[in-house]
Amino acid sequence: LNIQKVTIRSLIDDVLSLVRHSAEEKEIEINVDVDPDLKLEVDSSRFTQLLLNLVTNAIHYTPEGEHIYINMDEHENDIKLTVRDTGIGIPSEHLPRIFERFYRVDKARSRNSGGTGLGLAIVKHIVEAHNGKIEVESEVNKGTTFSVILPKEFTNPSS
Ligand code: ATP
Ligand code: MG
Repeated sequence: LNIQKVTIRSLIDDVLSLVRHSAEEKEIEINVDVDPDLKLEVDSSRFTQLLLNLVTNAIHYTPEGEHIYINMDEHENDIKLTVRDTGIGIPSEHLPRIFERFYRVDKARSRNSGGTGLGLAIVKHIVEAHNGKIEVESEVNKGTTFSVILPKEFTNPSS
């Protein structure tokens, strides 16, 4: 990892410019509430990949005209970043497995998106490399929230 202190909001803005077109096509509004001054010790390129995978999923699995919210809560030693959508949701029986490589909830419903089922496995790997945690909450036809909890200062997970 190439750990540097970075303004997290600028990484979010990079990701939003990458997905702007696909969000606009579906008329999905992405709402960001993140302190523009907050800095974290992360690997910028990995963290951008993590955000891109979560936001891309939120767009894919959310119908036209729905919403995505990106929020950041700051605590003393860590932060909680949430990516929430008002999309199709994930049936509870699948939730324990969605971070596995190649796992997709249902081939029929995700066929159009042509994914491989690697996106969330990569997200989990990056979160763990930063000594963080990831959680998911979801309700079918209501939406899904992914929460990433990260220490503000980098600590090596293997030490
Ligand atoms: P890719 O490798 O292109 O990302 P993918 O999107 O199918 O393919 P993951 O990102 O790992 O793979 O997601 C795994 C599965 O979890 C998806 O196939 C989808 O069924 C479900 N999923 C992920 N994010 C969401 C979401 N925000 N709303 C609903 N279902 C989701
Ligand atoms: Mg994906």
